[in-house]
Amino acid sequence: MARRKVSTYENVTRQYNAAADLMGLEDDVRKILAVTRNEFVVHFPVKMPDGRLEVFTGYRVQHNNVLGPFKGGLRYHPAVELDEVRALATWMTWKCAIANIPFGGAKGGVQVDPSRYSASEIEHITRRFTFDLGDNIGPEYDIPAPDVNTNPQIMAWILDTYLSTVPAHERQACIHVVTGKPVEAGGSQGRNKATGQGVVFCIEKWAKDHDVDLGGVKFMVQGFGNVGSWAARLMRPHGAKLVAVEDVTGAIANEAGIDADELKRYVDDAGGVRGYPGAAPVEHEEFFGTKADIIIPAALENQITGKTAPLLKVKLVAEGANGPTDPEGDEVLQDQGIHVIPDILCNAGGVTVSYFEWLQNKRSEFWDLEEVDGKLHRMMIGAYERVENAVESYKTDWRTAAYVVALSHLETVYKRRGIFP
Ligand code: GLU
Repeated sequence: MARRKVSTYENVTRQYNAAADLMGLEDDVRKILAVTRNEFVVHFPVKMPDGRLEVFTGYRVQHNNVLGPFKGGLRYHPAVELDEVRALATWMTWKCAIANIPFGGAKGGVQVDPSRYSASEIEHITRRFTFDLGDNIGPEYDIPAPDVNTNPQIMAWILDTYLSTVPAHERQACIHVVTGKPVEAGGSQGRNKATGQGVVFCIEKWAKDHDVDLGGVKFMVQGFGNVGSWAARLMRPHGAKLVAVEDVTGAIANEAGIDADELKRYVDDAGGVRGYPGAAPVEHEEFFGTKADIIIPAALENQITGKTAPLLKVKLVAEGANGPTDPEGDEVLQDQGIHVIPDILCNAGGVTVSYFEWLQNKRSEFWDLEEVDGKLHRMMIGAYERVENAVESYKTDWRTAAYVVALSHLETVYKRRGIFP
């Protein structure tokens, strides 16, 4: 029998309904937020540097912009499709609402395996996709950023291409059309590590609240891209021990600890954690069953499921990825009493520093790292405490509480503004 494909958007809908029921979200607002606003799909041709032509499929889904311009990353991955992008766009709306950032939610991407293309081919794909996005993005309308397999260089190409389409005298006023840019090209200090930094700020707060000494903690990371590698490296000064890592190339473990900086250098070179000499290879199931206190999922959606969650021995799941736990996985975590810092809170550091970058560009300012980190810390702790309060007042789990915080904020704004006409 053919197995039904998991719909990530269906998972979002289940999470949403649980929170909307619990808080009694107003009916009209509930109808609006239950669906995305705009969905853009484009099949675009790219003339490659060697002269051959390939056609790609690109997406941009805009979920909601009642709090401010649509905001969210672009990912390059073979699994990118409409259902996934819808889910990711919706999570961005909740994330910005929890973090108190004046942005709405969007997400996009290109269905492509970037490891099969040269840098110059990726540049061609990026520029043509940006051109085809056209007016669907804009500095005060919809602002892309990095996500899975995209990086500051790709943001610089998006910027350059977008600016080429606006009149010369307007270009300087449009630098904030994309965030996550290289620092030299209008990016912010601290943006590159921001998501991982936000994850670590949340873990610090959790540890403090639960009387856990991070110096004696063992942790594991799934995904060693931007978020996973930064979170792992930023846990190091606490003395926490990285004992297992899994990415798309395989899983590795070492009870005595893995040097996250050294592993990062290895991965930059080898393209993945597989074969890293400082640890032993392990199977997928073994990875999930690692004896550790914390897991940081920082890869793709639907990793902690009804099948893998029962294997976990950890006390805390700190979600660096978007949607790493599906509803069945969530049930297991709750039954086992495993704490969860949900994605829409835990990984909000990236979009928070994107907001700082956007502000700096608009004001022609340049903040130093200390200022960025200090502001990020305040914003993350504020968000954490709002969710913590909702956990207590609604007597619910952390994910549902995070939704309640987001939905209450959005509901208030809709009530004030009303619906046109
Ligand atoms: N892609 C990141 C996320 O999922 C960052 C989005 C942004 O900075 O706009 O939160």
